[in-house]
Amino acid sequence: MKRLSPPRHPISLEGPLTRRDFLWLMGAAGGAALLPLSGCAVDPVTGQKTLVGMSEQQEMSLDKSQSPNQFSSDLGAVQDAGLNRYVADVGGGLWSKSHRPKMPYSARVLNANYVNAYTFPGGSMGVTRGIMLEMQSEDELAALLGHETGHVNARHAAERAGKELLANVALTAASVAIASSENGQQYLPLLQPLSQVGASALLAKYSRDNEREADSLGMDYMVAGGYNPDGMSGLMNMLRGEARQKPSLLETMFSSHPMSEERYQTARLNAEQKYAQQRTRPPQRERYLDHTAGLRRIQPTVEACQKGEALMANKQLPQAEDQFGQALRYTRDDYAANVLMAKALMAQKKTREADNYLATAKSIYPGEAQAVHLSGLAKLALRQPEAALAEFVAYDKLLPGNPGTLFFVGAAHENMGQRREAANYYYRYLQSGAQGGEAQFAVARLKDWKVIK
Ligand SMILES: [Zn+2]
Repeated sequence: MKRLSPPRHPISLEGPLTRRDFLWLMGAAGGAALLPLSGCAVDPVTGQKTLVGMSEQQEMSLDKSQSPNQFSSDLGAVQDAGLNRYVADVGGGLWSKSHRPKMPYSARVLNANYVNAYTFPGGSMGVTRGIMLEMQSEDELAALLGHETGHVNARHAAERAGKELLANVALTAASVAIASSENGQQYLPLLQPLSQVGASALLAKYSRDNEREADSLGMDYMVAGGYNPDGMSGLMNMLRGEARQKPSLLETMFSSHPMSEERYQTARLNAEQKYAQQRTRPPQRERYLDHTAGLRRIQPTVEACQKGEALMANKQLPQAEDQFGQALRYTRDDYAANVLMAKALMAQKKTREADNYLATAKSIYPGEAQAVHLSGLAKLALRQPEAALAEFVAYDKLLPGNPGTLFFVGAAHENMGQRREAANYYYRYLQSGAQGGEAQFAVARLKDWKVIK
């Protein structure tokens, strides 16, 4: 994850930093001034001039740098090329009809179990396998992708850019927290339910008006794409039911109860009035069920994972472990279930056992980075810093440019007794604009070592 406009400042680790260096460093960590605001631009939907915080170029570059990290914290795209292609094809039928047909749209199904979908401002979209299992037709999928396309076209992310967005980008960069024991030599990973942080951070701030506008645009696009408008009311009806039955599974964008009722009623009304003619179109159920057949076969696995994640969030770790064990009895080679089992075990300090599940996860899905990252953390906790370093280097190859990696590489060097290398990486980590617990830890280390004052 690179900053949009990295400042240039020569850093030397030859001696202690000057006070000026340090102030600059802290200023960079504060960071907000680094994003040049782009001022007025024409809203592609309304044709009006609006104040936006990002140029189109910045939307695309933010998308490119952020989306791979978020997709990975949602455990990567499912390893079902046919299903990913299908979802991207359905999206393609809408994107070409949108107000910004030339944006670099893409879509994939993610291994995450919670019920959600999201988009980055350049049009990189993720749809969780959790929500894919709840939808019943291609029309509903088109409504979902239409809604996300609406956010991209109305430039909702750009609207809220600036300080707030940068603060959230820093939040996305925050990774698993590391706490040191009293003697400061042993690192214990503190597991948090990470997978949802980034998406919430990027999406939580959409206003109700943004959501209404995205629904309205989404319905236009899906109808223009040839779908039955009832798909939108079907989707909203499903989400409204989810909000009632399993609120914990729903992410911020859909979780507001009064809003989900209102959105359902609006969609229903639009289908009956504005799009009444298109309601005679045959609903596309068969095609959807055909393409999601593989996913439906592992539905019990996904449901056990959902239960386990809810228990994890509630700190009921042994019970969570039971659920992930159940998920693995249904589908031994499920990447997500192996990673989640490892997280539940790590949180109970059963680190060696956890690392075995991570080894399995890595062999199931060698291209996905989350298991590699967690395995690096496990090996740090197991006092195998050389092996941990190898994992973090491998992680950086899979997901280059995530500043969080700099911190962990530094931690591995520190544990190997290589203070100079450790200081270098901690410093670069702070330079990336990192904030939070790890950043404070890095600052404390650099002060202890007299690298900074
Ligand atoms: Zn939305």
